[in-house]
Amino acid sequence: MKWEYRCPSCGARYAIEPGRYLCGPCSKANAPGAPLSGVLECVPDSIPAKGSLPLPIEERWFPPIPVGNTPLWRPDRLRAHLGMPGLYLKDDAREPSGSFKDRASYLVAAFARQHGIKEIALASTGNAASSMACIGAAAGIKVKVFVPKSAPIAKRIQVLQYGADLVEIDGNYDKAFDTSLEYSARTGTLSRNTAYNPLTIEGKKTVSFEIVRDLAAAGEGPIEHVFVPTGDGVILAGVIRGFEDLLAMGEISVMPCFWAAQAEGSSAMARALALGRFDALPSTTLADSIAVDAPRNGPFLISKMKKYKGRAVTVDDREILEAQVLGSSLAGFFAEPSSATALAGLVKMSKELGPKARVAVLLTGSGLKDIRNAALAVGAPY
Ligand SMILES: *Cc1c(COP(=O)(O)O)cnc(C)c1O
Repeated sequence: MKWEYRCPSCGARYAIEPGRYLCGPCSKANAPGAPLSGVLECVPDSIPAKGSLPLPIEERWFPPIPVGNTPLWRPDRLRAHLGMPGLYLKDDAREPSGSFKDRASYLVAAFARQHGIKEIALASTGNAASSMACIGAAAGIKVKVFVPKSAPIAKRIQVLQYGADLVEIDGNYDKAFDTSLEYSARTGTLSRNTAYNPLTIEGKKTVSFEIVRDLAAAGEGPIEHVFVPTGDGVILAGVIRGFEDLLAMGEISVMPCFWAAQAEGSSAMARALALGRFDALPSTTLADSIAVDAPRNGPFLISKMKKYKGRAVTVDDREILEAQVLGSSLAGFFAEPSSATALAGLVKMSKELGPKARVAVLLTGSGLKDIRNAALAVGAPY
């Protein structure tokens, strides 16, 4: 099977090769600190065979570290509490670096190995940085990360432990993003910036394959709703890409409803879905992984959400911390605030969805990554 990049806006096609990121014509008007236009999609030249896991890089290039195949939980006590017996938790805190980002880093590292690339650079709110540093360590690739200096300390220490180069930015994620792109442009270093590098979207689709595979193997019905904590919108876009493939391959017969769960204080995607355009409001939320002023994958995700009638739900910081404690105390799952946002979104929608709904909530990061807010959630004096 052959793969190429395709621009979902104008249909232009490009080879998947080093130095290619956005669609040339469609990205001309992109401004620093704004959502990206011209984000590319990976497309195969034929419909993948049933039962396969179609990815644009061959398996032999993947680094020797176990990414993916995370457990799907059936949280009985949480199900009973919410009155939702069809609730599942997909646990990507079990990835090697403790976050969902490993799925994307894994594919980008495979691409780097295939092309003999020795260094990768990226901006991150923290998890993409610790993830790329982790996978880079296993692959023997040098990694340089640009992270706001306000990022939780655990994520920054992970970067140093894995031996990557940590650049702390005096500013927010949006500033780190632009600084890292300047660095990559100046030095020619491969960029793993989320959305900007199309492989970051494609790498994340594997989660959808695992959910569908595991439910089918257990003889349980299909998922009807997927709740995804959303900042830049790359995880959710990857989830949708996975379900698109699964539909084309005949593994599922209907698309689930996709939910973007956002913090009220950082709800650019939810606002864009409602308003039809992006406005730039500064974010304030303790859920650092989804605190994003200008969602980089905004236009790409919104067009997919419109196509599949996806929805958004926003929750405030208090609801996020309550959901964090709910997950910990009723399921034994300790999620970082961004992940708890997806659970909080489900709590908010549970009445409307009703007891028959079959729902997967993506748990994208471990609670140990941000102990300060976890302490706040339980009223501990630390
Ligand atoms: C990055 C991240 C998100 C949000 O993903 P986007 O692609 O930015 O929407 C959610 N949760 C965790 C733990 C993350 O690290």
